Amino acid sequence: MSHKLFRHSILSTARVWDFLKQVDATEAQACRAARCPRCGGALHSATYPRKPHGLAAGLRDDVRRFSLCCSVCRRRVKPASVRFFGRRFYVGALFVVVSALAVAGGVRLQTIARRWGIPSSTLKRWRRWWLEAFPLTRQWQAKRSELAAPPEEPPLRWLLRNMRGSSLRSRVLRSLVWLMPWTGLCALGAGRASPAESVSVMHG
Ligand SMILES: [Zn+2]
Repeated sequence: MSHKLFRHSILSTARVWDFLKQVDATEAQACRAARCPRCGGALHSATYPRKPHGLAAGLRDDVRRFSLCCSVCRRRVKPASVRFFGRRFYVGALFVVVSALAVAGGVRLQTIARRWGIPSSTLKRWRRWWLEAFPLTRQWQAKRSELAAPPEEPPLRWLLRNMRGSSLRSRVLRSLVWLMPWTGLCALGAGRASPAESVSVMHG
């Protein structure tokens, strides 16, 4: 599995992956402190292994997603994540960057598929999700007014273009932080997520 972005270490260095893991750990802590959303019981750690695509081989080993389980009603609570975007097999950064290319148009999907080693059918699904499902999510409905995004522009393109950062890497990292409410159950309905700008993101 070779992805150009990751081969060139823009986002898949151990340092970046560690940073993303720390963001996830902080989110999991906050989620745990908020207790069970159903019964208020204490939440216990219940991490599970994942083998996300798009990550350098050495980094893929020993990857676990933070997850919590209620000690009373046994409900599983998934904290939001900057490493995993829902159940998708690819790491969040790859999902966001390649989706942006697919949404932008101009380049044929088959070309993107070949270059990134991701099936066209997957790219079509991602594009449909960003263009059709994402604008209807209540997170976007709520955040859109906050952002004053123009209605005609696909949200993902707008997001990547407007996230502050001197490099693609810092823009992608900030976007991942900003997109956290879409990635876990815990963040849903928890009100406004903290602004991406308030999170310290590595530069470069
Ligand atoms: Zn519970």
